[in-house]
Amino acid sequence: MSNYQVLLYYLYVPIEDPEMFAAEHLKLCQSFNLKGRILIAKEGINGTVSGLTEDTEKYMTYMHNNEQFKDIFFKIDPADHQAFKKMFVRPRPELVSLKLEDDINPLELTGEYLSPTEFKEAILDEDTIVIDARNDYEYDLGHFRGAVRPDIRNFRELPQWIRDNKEKFMDKRVVTYCTGGIRCEKFSGWLVREGFKDVGQLHGGIATYGHDPKVRGELWDGAMYVFDERISVPINHVDPVIVGRDWFDGTPCERYVNCGNPECNRQMLCSEENEAKYVRGCSHECRVHPRNRYIPENDLSIEKWQSRIESLGEDFPIDILLQRS
Ligand SMILES: [Zn+2]
Repeated sequence: MSNYQVLLYYLYVPIEDPEMFAAEHLKLCQSFNLKGRILIAKEGINGTVSGLTEDTEKYMTYMHNNEQFKDIFFKIDPADHQAFKKMFVRPRPELVSLKLEDDINPLELTGEYLSPTEFKEAILDEDTIVIDARNDYEYDLGHFRGAVRPDIRNFRELPQWIRDNKEKFMDKRVVTYCTGGIRCEKFSGWLVREGFKDVGQLHGGIATYGHDPKVRGELWDGAMYVFDERISVPINHVDPVIVGRDWFDGTPCERYVNCGNPECNRQMLCSEENEAKYVRGCSHECRVHPRNRYIPENDLSIEKWQSRIESLGEDFPIDILLQRS
């Protein structure tokens, strides 16, 4: 039984005093026992929260009864527990950061909104380029079939990447997508301003596409990365496949971990077996890093740590052994 729901939503709408609004909104969310993360900026609100179904319903009703937020569209996923540990509401200079010299206001300039059905047609159209507006590690877990994967670790690197690759897309129709739609509102507006003639965006993002009764997530391969404790959610309900690959052995995998080295923290897909075998380190340096979090979290003795490293054919650093004695 799913007694909980996860809500994903945003609205570009002017908010006078983000600091004050955030403080009041936090109290509101706490009164509904919600957990999650909400960003407030002068340009609007962007949130993802979880709570008991009845509490999330009360929250949505409260927001829809408020003139300012009556147009918010909530994407709803059932869940069997809270998807977050805490509740944060934070004021921010922007909702999504493209680090543009001249910011885009999506209320004034944005790409054409495409319904899931229209977007599916665009994927099948050979003269349309589909650009994934998310980060590389999100793409690697799942993406639309044939979509372009920008080689970026962070959204703010996207404009430069497009400029560097512009000649490939300039004369084509370009459509773009992201998790819930908020990044594309700005990114597609930026594409229009850059001179792209025909720009579309998936309205409501991948989350909406997965719930749409007509397309049912078709042409999506893999799972969708989400920024909460679930990490990945299914989208394709027609012919799902796994596209994620284990960092260590390349076998199909949808399980994310962060590298045990706190200075690296790389997100990588890996099985429980490989996590143990490689003590959650993405490289030799990370595996033998003195602060590798896998070691204390699993109560691994230095002898066991050493034997796992040596079984990989790698050398265990003498200074860790010396520290012990
Ligand atoms: Zn690492």
